[in-house]
Amino acid sequence: MEVKVVKNILAQNESIAEENQRIFKENGIFAVNLMSSPGSGKTSILERTVGLIKDELKVGVVEGDICTTADADRLKKFEIQIVQINTEPFGGDCHLEAHMLQKALDCLDLSSIELLLIENLGNLVCPAEFKLGEDQRVAILSITEGEDKPLKYPLIFRVADLLLINKIDLEKHLEVDVQQIVENVAKINPELPVIKLSAKSGEGFDQWKEWLVRGVKERTS
Ligand code: MG
Ligand code: ZN
Repeated sequence: MEVKVVKNILAQNESIAEENQRIFKENGIFAVNLMSSPGSGKTSILERTVGLIKDELKVGVVEGDICTTADADRLKKFEIQIVQINTEPFGGDCHLEAHMLQKALDCLDLSSIELLLIENLGNLVCPAEFKLGEDQRVAILSITEGEDKPLKYPLIFRVADLLLINKIDLEKHLEVDVQQIVENVAKINPELPVIKLSAKSGEGFDQWKEWLVRGVKERTS
């Protein structure tokens, strides 16, 4: 009985995700779903990314959180289109679902967005189970989280199209073995491309920016 319910939820999510994907294609939008645990630096990465790219590309942001607009508030200074989804009215979900994104899209002027960055809720588990209709899924892992996370939470590393390893500036202060993180990721998903970066120092952002610009070009060409 219960299994059937879960299947129905996922099937329903899948069909709304397909509608979202159609909307992105129609409007020439490259949509990226950013997934990570809390505190890995999603919002800091967004902040630096938007600052780097906003004069070149028309950027929109969807922020997901259970409560508060704190993350969206950090991006207000850029004068880009931002929608905050709070999941509390939806039952306090710990991940975004396609129907939530669908509602957020109603609040945006889609004709003037080329790159849509979607910040999922901080959680390494269920965001990976719910497709939103995005073009690419980007997992973020910071080096402060330890080497074992890819092995403990394999699904997110299996479904991701790109992994950002953040807080690389802290490497010299920590005992963490970054090479071991990369090796553990490769055990789960040997095809997964990895970019090491630091939202604090900006290291690695050229490569990340290139990846985003390429995605937008492929969508609009
Ligand atoms: Mg955040
Ligand atoms: Zn969840």
